[in-house]
Amino acid sequence: MKHFPSNRTITYFSSQNQPAYFAELGEVVEIETNDCYDGQVKTEETHREDFDRSRLNPATGPIYINGMQKGDTLCVEVLDIKTGDYGIMMAAPGLGPLGNSVSNSSTKILPIYEDHVEFNETIKIPLQPMIGVAGVAPEEGEVSTALPGTHGGNLDTKDIKAGNKLYLPVFTEGALAAFGDLHAAMGDGELSGTGIETSGVIKVRFTKVPFIIENPVVEDEKFFYFIASADTYEQAIHTALLQTTNQLASWLDFSFEDSYRVLSAVCDLKFSQIVNELVTVRVAVPKSLLPESVYSEQRY
Ligand code: CA
Ligand code: CA
Repeated sequence: MKHFPSNRTITYFSSQNQPAYFAELGEVVEIETNDCYDGQVKTEETHREDFDRSRLNPATGPIYINGMQKGDTLCVEVLDIKTGDYGIMMAAPGLGPLGNSVSNSSTKILPIYEDHVEFNETIKIPLQPMIGVAGVAPEEGEVSTALPGTHGGNLDTKDIKAGNKLYLPVFTEGALAAFGDLHAAMGDGELSGTGIETSGVIKVRFTKVPFIIENPVVEDEKFFYFIASADTYEQAIHTALLQTTNQLASWLDFSFEDSYRVLSAVCDLKFSQIVNELVTVRVAVPKSLLPESVYSEQRY
């Protein structure tokens, strides 16, 4: 199995980046990732003011995937996520929605064990590893790995985890995918501004799927999640709802109005993250509602 080390990273997604690694469709590869601080925080004495912010959110890659073209949809099947042996959680004035109530910067380094993160002697947090940054080169320009968007990127969506599939629209030959910012655990919203930030190794398989999407979509056993990011909640929610309603209308062969009714009756709106420069939301659509053909294992 190919192993892509974490010494080749980007902090901007761009179609102009030179590929660092190459993969084939259907191939399983292992990707090593640095934590979102690029390994600069090793002790609790290092606070948010103390490191080089230009190195934040390094994503390992870009990975050129043979056979992917502009206009295709890439499926990233997340097979496994192994975290590092410690996680980092920072608090700092101004960080997160309650940042104004935080008086001093502080850092916690939390040991990660096989199935939990030890917050202290009494609080053990179940290990729920997820990928914070997963993206491809965007349609235009350079996009910081700190930002989410139609190309994926800093989606901070807790369903991007082992066993699930992430679908991304491809804007350039080879897709130029990159991954980083693992979290050992994170609740919806990423409410204090960080997950339990960690390094690690992910195992993924890349395939091409025969449907077109405009924004990232995640699939797990029971749901499709339609993801949208924007600079306001209203715009992110509008985009996610509109995309879901249109997709439902197409899948179910419904009018927009009937699809809109079904959306309201069975779908949940969830916050992925509310702490990045753009916010990310998702709409969960139960697969039980859909005809089998929608989620059959067709791959090519
Ligand atoms: Ca993140
Ligand atoms: Ca993070």
